[in-house]
Amino acid sequence: MEIYVFDSMSHPTSSGSGAQLTTPVQFLKGVGPQRAIRLANLGLRTAQDVLFFFPRDYQDLTDVRAIADLEEDALLSVLGEVEDVTLRSIGPGRSLLSVQIRQDGQWMRAVWFNQPFLEKKFFEGQCLLVAGKPSQRGGVWEMTHPHVEVIEQEDRDAEGRLLPVYPLTEGVYQGHLRRVVREVLDECVQSVEEIFPESFLAEHHLAPLAEALGNIHFPDNKTSLANARKRLVYQELLLLQLGLGLRRQRRSATATAPVLEATGKIDARIRRRFPFELTEGQNAAIADIVADMGKACPMNRLLQGDVGSGKTVIALYATLLAVAHGCQVAIMVPTEVLARQHARVLGEFLQASRVRTTLISGSLTKSQRTNVLGELKNGEIDVAIGTHALVQPDVEFANLGLVVIDEQHKFGVRQRAELKDAGPHYLVMTATPIPRTVTMTLFGDLDVTEIRDLPPGRQPVNTYLATDEKREKWWEFYRNKLSEGRQGYVIAPLIEESETWDVASLSRVYEELANGPLSDYRLGMIHGRMSGKEKDAVMRQFNDGRVQVLVGTTVVEVGVDVPNATVMTIEGAERFGLAQLHQLRGRIRRGTLPGYCTLFADLENDATAERLEAFVKSGDGFELAELDFKFRGPGDLFGTRQHGFPPLRIADLLRDAKVVQVARRDAQGLLDADPGLANPEHALLRQRVLRRYGSVLELGDVG
Ligand code: ADP
Ligand code: MG
Repeated sequence: MEIYVFDSMSHPTSSGSGAQLTTPVQFLKGVGPQRAIRLANLGLRTAQDVLFFFPRDYQDLTDVRAIADLEEDALLSVLGEVEDVTLRSIGPGRSLLSVQIRQDGQWMRAVWFNQPFLEKKFFEGQCLLVAGKPSQRGGVWEMTHPHVEVIEQEDRDAEGRLLPVYPLTEGVYQGHLRRVVREVLDECVQSVEEIFPESFLAEHHLAPLAEALGNIHFPDNKTSLANARKRLVYQELLLLQLGLGLRRQRRSATATAPVLEATGKIDARIRRRFPFELTEGQNAAIADIVADMGKACPMNRLLQGDVGSGKTVIALYATLLAVAHGCQVAIMVPTEVLARQHARVLGEFLQASRVRTTLISGSLTKSQRTNVLGELKNGEIDVAIGTHALVQPDVEFANLGLVVIDEQHKFGVRQRAELKDAGPHYLVMTATPIPRTVTMTLFGDLDVTEIRDLPPGRQPVNTYLATDEKREKWWEFYRNKLSEGRQGYVIAPLIEESETWDVASLSRVYEELANGPLSDYRLGMIHGRMSGKEKDAVMRQFNDGRVQVLVGTTVVEVGVDVPNATVMTIEGAERFGLAQLHQLRGRIRRGTLPGYCTLFADLENDATAERLEAFVKSGDGFELAELDFKFRGPGDLFGTRQHGFPPLRIADLLRDAKVVQVARRDAQGLLDADPGLANPEHALLRQRVLRRYGSVLELGDVG
């Protein structure tokens, strides 16, 4: 019979159950088929999975106090055993829960007012870590509403240590998971292969992998935890950057693009078409693009600029530069409304020029489409503007020189990839500012240009957060603006379930306005389920002022440009992300007139209120994007997952922003010195990159 002994990391071979990295969890000590099924729900199938399943947090027992050493008003923790739990009534609807905690013959109290339901959580003999500010009452130390963690029985002597806290799932318990991890560490951690060459570890001051794995699970102290985390975060981000770098490298090795030089003559001819002086940011962006397009290596640039910073003229510049050299251009946008608007704006800029543009949308009839595709294929058309209808396999160009993608954030990585193969030069624009670390991570194979200024005379939008009782006042203000000749938007609340519901809620909002506060004004309605023609008609009426108020869903979110519109109501604002609200608000910051935006929201929830108040205070899209990211988490709008990447296991794009930059630089350094990671010294590293990112980054044939 084998007796299982709990052993610490210092005797890695003593328990000897013979598990290997590939051993299925079912065969680990204390698991078995039932528990294996539950562990599989956490993605844990083999011993190796367990090693790389990182704690989401730690119970910090490094600084627990003896009750005798407590001090008034300092934040302190005590580890002890529950001796008694009493709940008493102290008045009508008021209660006091008192939990007596014993530690080495001394005792203290933890108390809660008016939280009777907590009583159930405590029982005699339970081991607790209580953290709070102690005060003395009647000679006894007391903590009011402390933070409490239940400590597993077997860890009651864990004083001075950090205990891992793992994400759990139904039927999996913290104590059990800790034992499984410990077992795997003891048995297998030494057989984990180091993926970095030794010299690399030394040069970057990184802990060896086996050591880092041991310490990320059961750190000896905070320093060893920090070192372990540093190593593992770095590794994760470096692998990602290497994946992106490999893709970039392969692309520039295989792809060539036409050299499209902006001679003085061409430059002057293009600029003559602009009715305004370009801003500094616009000029700098154009300089970047001109430098890129003048090379045979394909441009691959992301242009980031806040709403209204004037990205369209930059796209136009790049477009005309390509056309001047006889190349065709494809401009891809996420919505038909925007496609039509771009076509119209381009048409205005290009009046009396020989540039032939066309709109390719989902609403072309079959014969229209056949016609247009024919003209594209034989080169009769210079510029094609369209939605994803542009990336269908039957769309062929005679001589495509440039692809522009507007509002990049609305497209996934896959769609980008599809079009990518079509165009030699590639310009991506986004108005939803993406936190810089995220851009670098997700779009690490793109060069980035940022426009941080706005055309002259732009004013911040006056933004208000309101609840229902302010409605009447707001509509009065809104009507006054309309009577002064301005126009406005009303955005219906976002309903996640389906587009049909969106339309229903939009229709309700519309009816209420038409029969209520805006009954004297000309309203138009726009939503995603209308045909292209219908949308186009409404947009045209809004553009020339026949429609005074556009009542719509978020289809007006991206790109719509009507400078005379200066007021906006957003209903159900709590349902929108900050970046999205900022986009919406951007619709009324298009001209030199001040804009006014009121958000109506349900502010019951504190987090919502905090989020929306932050929005009211900040007019800076970059800042808001970072905030959004903080509030809603990376899994949301800019999450790696949404872009088709496997989720990050330990790195946090915001918290580890600095490491993202370092990893990017180091990855580039590695790839410069060893293109394709062909050196045998990098074989393992290369294998890991391909395993994780090979398919999403289409690196299948690298090397
Ligand atoms: P976005 O970056 O959000 O796509 P647009 O390109 O639609 O912004 O530009 C917003 C508005 O500002 C448009 O009406 C455009 O004509 C105008 N605009 C762009 N650049 C300038 C400039 N340098 N000076 C004045 N107005 C400009
Ligand atoms: Mg735009």
